[in-house]
Amino acid sequence: MEWHQMISFNIPPYLGTEFKYVKDAIEVKRKISGDGSYTKLCHCWLENNFSAQKALLTTSGTSALEMAAILSEIRPGDEVILPSYTFSTTATAFVLVGAKLVFVDIRPDTMNIDETIIEKAITRSTKAIVAVHYAGVSCEMDTILDIANRHNLIVVEDAAQGVMASYKEKALGTIGDFGCYSFHETKNYSMGEGGAILIKDPKNNDRAEIIREKGTNRQRFLRGQVDKYTWEEYGSSYLPSDINAAYLWGQLERAEEINSNRLQAWNTYYEKLSRLREKKLIELPIVPEYCKHNAHMFYIKCKNLAERSRLITYLKDRQISSAFHYIPLHSSPAGKRYGRFFGDDIYTTSESNRLLRLPMYFGIKEADILEVVSAIYSFYNISN
Ligand SMILES: *Cc1c(COP(=O)(O)O)cnc(C)c1O
Repeated sequence: MEWHQMISFNIPPYLGTEFKYVKDAIEVKRKISGDGSYTKLCHCWLENNFSAQKALLTTSGTSALEMAAILSEIRPGDEVILPSYTFSTTATAFVLVGAKLVFVDIRPDTMNIDETIIEKAITRSTKAIVAVHYAGVSCEMDTILDIANRHNLIVVEDAAQGVMASYKEKALGTIGDFGCYSFHETKNYSMGEGGAILIKDPKNNDRAEIIREKGTNRQRFLRGQVDKYTWEEYGSSYLPSDINAAYLWGQLERAEEINSNRLQAWNTYYEKLSRLREKKLIELPIVPEYCKHNAHMFYIKCKNLAERSRLITYLKDRQISSAFHYIPLHSSPAGKRYGRFFGDDIYTTSESNRLLRLPMYFGIKEADILEVVSAIYSFYNISN
């Protein structure tokens, strides 16, 4: 085999326009702290494009989740239902406010929380449900909202991977009470480190602004609604620098282009790997008809953990990086301390052991995708 450069697993999105906006923020706007003109452009863009009542940039997806946990008014001892197959901070945000975590199993088709188990996991202490849209493929939100309405629970969407994806025409992040986006460099749109919180009910807007701005009502002061600003309640510093927002702006204004480029790469993987699925050697992602995904990730499922480990090594030997994903939180030291698993772990551990993510990023070359595909065919001893 010919030597080629390593095919990266991820390369952060960069269009080339970002630098111009960053320079403008620094040299022309002379505003590099939070809530400058680029932050405002990003807020408007998110609100307009996703029909969101309110969007606020944050310093990370994690800080958006923390804001959601604080806004949910969860008290120590309250329970939060979430999947175990997720990133650590889906959980830590709620641990911060003293919640007990109740993990439930996932569906094997989408790797999302199994909505049919949620209701059985509800107790008198349950306060919220966290829906994590894995790989930008939506959870079954109608069922989740129906359960939440009947039991008076808050719904937080961890849509860190779901920017530009939708459920029945509604943008992910705008369906629950709070939606949390990540603009980390591994996500579809990036500002290095950053995120956003989307808020459904306008009654939460003031508190969200206060919590985001060190517990002060500075935003109301800047709008002339109060004549001095003061410490109102608990808060932290969740607003990002306008330098980062300027970088993000370069990507949001061309979000369609990024999205269609990623979808094209995703579809190429899907088509080219279909024969291996037909031969039942691997499984491919399943996207239910009710959702439009955003090609955040392309994964395959191997037969088992041992086969996946062999495939990772096989690809690495051929200069291709691939990656498994979450170690289920309920089996982690902190997960055991802060939570419990409700019901049986039928799919969480077994499906996560089989899942392997392939190189996927904005601008990935078709030739590289074909290289990855052909390496997988040769691993399974099938000609492609
Ligand atoms: C990336 C991610 C986060 C955290 O986002 P950061 O911006 O890195 O803090 C949380 N949840 C999920 C599901 C993620 O993929």
